[in-house]
Amino acid sequence: MRGLHLHDGVLSFRTDLPRPEAQPGWSRIRVTRAGVCATDLALCRGYMGFEGTPGHEFVGVALDGPHRGRRVVGEINAACGRCASCAAGLDRHCPHRSVLGILGHGGAFAEEVSLPDRNLLVVPDAISDDAATFAEPLAAALQIGEQVQLGSRRRAVVAGDGRLGLLCAHALHHAGCAVTVAGRHPERARCLPDAVVHRTGLLEADGTDPTPQFDLAVEATGRGATLGRLLPWMEPRATIVLKTTTEAPLTVDLSLAVINELSIVGSRCGRFGPALDLLATGRVPVERWVEARYPLDAAAQALTRAAQPGTLKVLVDVS
Ligand SMILES: [Zn+2]
Ligand SMILES: [Zn+2]
Repeated sequence: MRGLHLHDGVLSFRTDLPRPEAQPGWSRIRVTRAGVCATDLALCRGYMGFEGTPGHEFVGVALDGPHRGRRVVGEINAACGRCASCAAGLDRHCPHRSVLGILGHGGAFAEEVSLPDRNLLVVPDAISDDAATFAEPLAAALQIGEQVQLGSRRRAVVAGDGRLGLLCAHALHHAGCAVTVAGRHPERARCLPDAVVHRTGLLEADGTDPTPQFDLAVEATGRGATLGRLLPWMEPRATIVLKTTTEAPLTVDLSLAVINELSIVGSRCGRFGPALDLLATGRVPVERWVEARYPLDAAAQALTRAAQPGTLKVLVDVS
């Protein structure tokens, strides 16, 4: 089949990739559309040592299995279903898992993918194909609410006004938090609900001493060093949620985390059901965030485009 292939850090478009094989309990999906994510760009730089077809944000049509013929999205962690982690409901932490387009599992910049049947969710008609490609990152944003007690009490700051930062801001706003986004792109204020404050320069080092004023922070800049900038803004017993994986080790003075008894929470993937529910309301205007789209045979250019600073969202039209 046709698709992108990453080998030794070089992306190439190929027409001879093997189609996923049928296997019990798994479905094959014909990919309709796929989104480019910062993780895809990191994989191309060698993150995870991934070889194969990247791409994990997709919508497609199930070719077999219980949802055959229906439009589906798929949770990306394919767990073994047999180990202690899986038995405890921590299938996204199964040590034997593969991860679509990230770890030992061919991804969505190709004509077909396969996933366990239980990973698939039928996409409601109210959600367009473009919007459905946001189910995965929106689920990751909503995962914050699974890990941290949210409520109107929370004065939250989201560091980063890239795509994940915007999604996190929407998720926190939806959960009742008072949200400030600390970003670099003034025009991104338009991507946020009116009640969300957008500020540029908040986390830049300008010599002024921050006044602690947030009891929740989400680090979604893609730059791990932002953690150190967030610390002085946090009130005692506040929580900082880390959404950024760093490709290189990080040096940060954590004294304030000790002095103020801060909680630091790592946060990764979430369930797709709540993400589809929120997308179906139309309250997260993700379709307007799409800045470019490329056909599958130009998917490598889609990744190049997505790597340009300030690019919000790039899609690949697969079929
Ligand atoms: Zn992603
Ligand atoms: Zn398992």
